Amino acid sequence: MSEISFYSPIGYLKGVGEKRATLMQQELDIYTIEDLLTYFPYRYVDKSKYYLIKDLKANINTYIQLKGIITEKNIIGERRGKRLTAKFQDETGCITLVWFNNIKYFNEILSINKTYIVFGKPTLFNSHINITHPEINSEENNSPHSIPFQPMYNSTDKAKRSGLDSRGISKLCRSLLEIYGQHIEETLPEYIQNKLQLVNRKKALFNIHFPNSTQDIAQAIRRLKFEEIFFLQLFLMYSQHITTMKSRGYLFPKVGELFNTFYHHHLQFSLTQAQKRVIKEIRSDFVSGHQMNRLLQGDVGSGKTITALLLILLVIDNGYQCCLMAPTEILAQQHYNNICKMLGDLPINVNLLTGSTKQSERKNILNSIGNGKTNLLIGTHALIEDDVLFKQLGFVIIDEQHRFGVEQRAKLWRKSLIPPHVLIMTATPIPRTLSMTVYGNLDMSIIDELPIGRKPIQTLHFYKRDSAKINQFLKQEIANGRQIYVVFPLIEESETLSLSNLMEGYEEFKLTYPSPEYEVGIVHGKMNSEEKETVMQNFNEGKIHILLATTVIEVGIDVPNATVMVIENAERFGLSQLHQLRGRVGRGNEQSYCVLLTDYELSKEAHIRIKAMLDTNDGFEIANVDLKLRGPGDMAGTRQSGVLDFKLINILQDERIISTARDIAKSILQEDAELMLEKNWLLRKKIENMNNHSKKYYRIG
Ligand code: ADP
Ligand code: MG
Repeated sequence: MSEISFYSPIGYLKGVGEKRATLMQQELDIYTIEDLLTYFPYRYVDKSKYYLIKDLKANINTYIQLKGIITEKNIIGERRGKRLTAKFQDETGCITLVWFNNIKYFNEILSINKTYIVFGKPTLFNSHINITHPEINSEENNSPHSIPFQPMYNSTDKAKRSGLDSRGISKLCRSLLEIYGQHIEETLPEYIQNKLQLVNRKKALFNIHFPNSTQDIAQAIRRLKFEEIFFLQLFLMYSQHITTMKSRGYLFPKVGELFNTFYHHHLQFSLTQAQKRVIKEIRSDFVSGHQMNRLLQGDVGSGKTITALLLILLVIDNGYQCCLMAPTEILAQQHYNNICKMLGDLPINVNLLTGSTKQSERKNILNSIGNGKTNLLIGTHALIEDDVLFKQLGFVIIDEQHRFGVEQRAKLWRKSLIPPHVLIMTATPIPRTLSMTVYGNLDMSIIDELPIGRKPIQTLHFYKRDSAKINQFLKQEIANGRQIYVVFPLIEESETLSLSNLMEGYEEFKLTYPSPEYEVGIVHGKMNSEEKETVMQNFNEGKIHILLATTVIEVGIDVPNATVMVIENAERFGLSQLHQLRGRVGRGNEQSYCVLLTDYELSKEAHIRIKAMLDTNDGFEIANVDLKLRGPGDMAGTRQSGVLDFKLINILQDERIISTARDIAKSILQEDAELMLEKNWLLRKKIENMNNHSKKYYRIG
């Protein structure tokens, strides 16, 4: 070896030919030596131990290893139930092995009366023990007993067929460590290792691939998990610091006439403690001299809009313009209507700019923005088009950010020389562990309190056939003067189908709720904005009793007199969407209801979603269930970032290690913000490396 580099292509490793290198790239995402070094086992088989079949009943649902012979095998069942079963016995008893996949392959390779080592998770079925899809090896193929723990690596069928099964991968790791092992470099300064009693990196990497004891495994995983999450957090915080240092921010020190007049004479209610706290937090950002980038989380109905409005007034008092961006036209229009109404006769120019603003009007508005006459611009994506130029944009609010891409936001920030302060508001709560990592570079404010007097929404679940009962209930609510939303799912396969579904529902509702006693309205994405606006207006004024809609009303809509949200085919909605929809009711003082209608047959996941909705009204709990169901890669707005592809860290289970890492990163930067101290040079090196090498992290500067 003349030159050792962990960034060399995997093909350079002894034992990996060209063909295998390609396979490793395509199937396992292993491109470099380093990638293989950090291709960690997901589990280990304790080679020292065989269980006896007679003892299995006490070990149901845990992974175990058995040794015995196959006495019989059969292919049974039809179509999806088709399976290969094999009777497997040792001297103490007999169980059944079952395969639903690769039936033909296993039927061919398994021989009767030959000794096999079986690894898997026994389950109990009709008091008989089964192992479905076990790993199975003939005795001579099983690795030598010199390895006390056999590491198991994820692989694909295709890769396995070319010898890249657990054993094959393990062999390559062995050769990698033999050649490169002595060159593994430490990344954590000794003082951190000592403080947390972490094993060094070399030892951790050797032991995670070839442990001698369970203690080896635990220590290795702990060290490597810490490293994984620590550097991500250090990197995010460090870059935030650097960006803040660089970016000056406008100063809004004055609490002026607009703010005071509104606060004392226009505001109809008193703010919640949480709203006050958030306003205070943001006000201190406004006088810090640095640009604010803040995420405001607050459950649906917690009163984010009014909070934002007060801050907007503050900014206008200081002579700057604001813009408020919403994800849909309906929501932008609603913000415009409500804000104009709340502002009353205050001398403020508010304009609305959306995709359907007429050309001539658009021109006037652009002028007014450009010469500074417009104080507050409300709108949709239309706001970030290139010809929208502000005179003095000081504050940008993005409502329901998960609909906006990172790119779009960046575009907005480029709209003035000194970047405006940015507040992103979201009702989709982000679980704590996630926000600590993904949004490590945003400051966070939380409104964790609902205005007083709100009654918790009651959530009910009905199967579709109970419609008589439901109609009776809905008519009762209407008789009491209330209004109702009925939401139909967007059918992903076909927009036409979604619409025809909605239209069918519309016809049915009109029959069940005949005019003139009842007014049934409809709103969907295919209508033009004027039509939509008219319908929403009528609903707002109580002229429509039942409003049928697709998910266009999902975010933000605020009609306090609407007390029932009926969700058709609720099993088709995601959990956060359901929670959002539910948040459309319960906004006034009346008891509100959310009615989930589903088919009889529910998938397991749909069942969990419905149950979560019935169990809790708390958006953070909902978000946690959602995170478990969907995995972090899918959570709001995080998909593009790619920073969540952890190798070891489990966002759900590793809260402790995540917060320890965060605390340590924080205290290091507090002492040594630029990582210039001698003792931190390893950290600095690694951070620079992350900045240069990896596309997936945000670049600094
Ligand atoms: P969200 O946080 O979901 O955007 P909104 O800002 O739309 O919530 O507020 C929901 C409703 O609660 C609005 O009708 C608003 O006027 C009202 N509201 C906001 N803050 C308070 C408060 N402190 N007390 C009473 N009502 C409030
Ligand atoms: Mg809102």
